[in-house]
Amino acid sequence: MKRYDVAVVGGGPAGLAVAITATSRGLNTVVLERAAVPADKACGEGLMPSGLAALDRLGALPHLDRKESAPFVGIRYVQEDGTTAEGLLPAPGGLGVRRVALSSALVARAREVGVELRERTQVLSHRRSPDAVMLETADGPVEARMLVAADGLGSPLRRAEGLDVEFAGPRRFGLRRHFQVAPWTPYVEVHFADGVEAYVTPAGARRVGLAFLWEDGVVEGRVGFDTLLARFPRLAERLAGMEPDSQVRGAGPLARVARARVADRFALVGDAAGYVDALTGEGLSLAFACAESLGMLLPDALVKGATHEALRPYEACFQRVFRKYAWTTQALLMLARRPRLRRPVVRLLGKAPWLFERILHAVVA
Ligand SMILES: Cc1cc2nc3c(=O)[nH]c(=O)nc-3n(C[C@H](O)[C@H](O)[C@H](O)COP(=O)(O)OP(=O)(O)OC[C@H]3O[C@@H](n4cnc5c(N)ncnc54)[C@H](O)[C@@H]3O)c2cc1C
Repeated sequence: MKRYDVAVVGGGPAGLAVAITATSRGLNTVVLERAAVPADKACGEGLMPSGLAALDRLGALPHLDRKESAPFVGIRYVQEDGTTAEGLLPAPGGLGVRRVALSSALVARAREVGVELRERTQVLSHRRSPDAVMLETADGPVEARMLVAADGLGSPLRRAEGLDVEFAGPRRFGLRRHFQVAPWTPYVEVHFADGVEAYVTPAGARRVGLAFLWEDGVVEGRVGFDTLLARFPRLAERLAGMEPDSQVRGAGPLARVARARVADRFALVGDAAGYVDALTGEGLSLAFACAESLGMLLPDALVKGATHEALRPYEACFQRVFRKYAWTTQALLMLARRPRLRRPVVRLLGKAPWLFERILHAVVA
């Protein structure tokens, strides 16, 4: 049986980014993805400047179908009474990218650099031998010197490795759908209501994505796309009569905690490695940053036997990047959950755009 250097489970943005980076550094890499690619997924689809720069470094940007994307210049908060605060992102700004187009670009780049991509291949279990990891799939076993789990929020591999930690805080969920309408603003708009946020991302010349985030138990009755939209009368009015451009897709619970990112011959990356919330729109940027760091470390780590110790620099890099993301996301969540505090703070930021911009630049830099 062929033995790969690296087997990546999950062909989402994180898995493909690790595979591209590792293969570009000479490793023989296979990606095992249970779905067909390119794949759609519930996502707000806003790529922050650092994520955009990572996509460029990965060599995937030239493969991106620009018709399936739209640039945005900043973030605008919109409150119930119509008050707003807006700030510009650092140059070159962000890009709203339809998820299928992002997946297509990463898949094309992965194939270009020589990644072996097996779609419709679900990994069922894994076990270690002294010098490798054996993966069981419906199509037979796969052997590799190193296993990278990029299998998303629920990560069965994180659980199987005993790295899952129960999250004790509030359970938050997300839903998204697209509409055929020209973006009415060059900003990503985050609309606040009690217990729910809606964010609108331009994702094409005639497409906007609308994503809702809410906390379990805060929204009464049956939660659905239309009931959530009804909580935002301004958005409901704007979108009345507009043709939907996608199916409703959901995800959650969002917050996930892992005890550690690495074990012998094993690493977690992307949402599988830990996630706080989608409210700051940083999941993709975080996934790319960590995936690149892991992919660059792997050749050296494999020479050292891919031990827990050899993979430790990746854990350190993850901690550094994640800490900042977690801190800012928790701060914004705290505000979102306390409308009486959030309203004056957003009003203040509206009157002092320089302050909002300074905060934004510090967060997304
Ligand atoms: C509502 C919502 C809005 C968001 N908005 C934004 C935003 O605006 N900007 C942003 O940057 N981020 C956003 N995010 C976060 C972003 O979508 C994620 O951070 C990103 O998708 C993480 O990528 P990933 O590759 O880690 O996981 P995923 O994209 O979930 O990929 C995991 C892959 O693993 C595969 N898989 C799982 N198990 C197996 C198995 N056993 N065998 C084989 N394959 C398997 C799955 O099929 C899947 O393709 C949002 C998330 C949500 C839920």
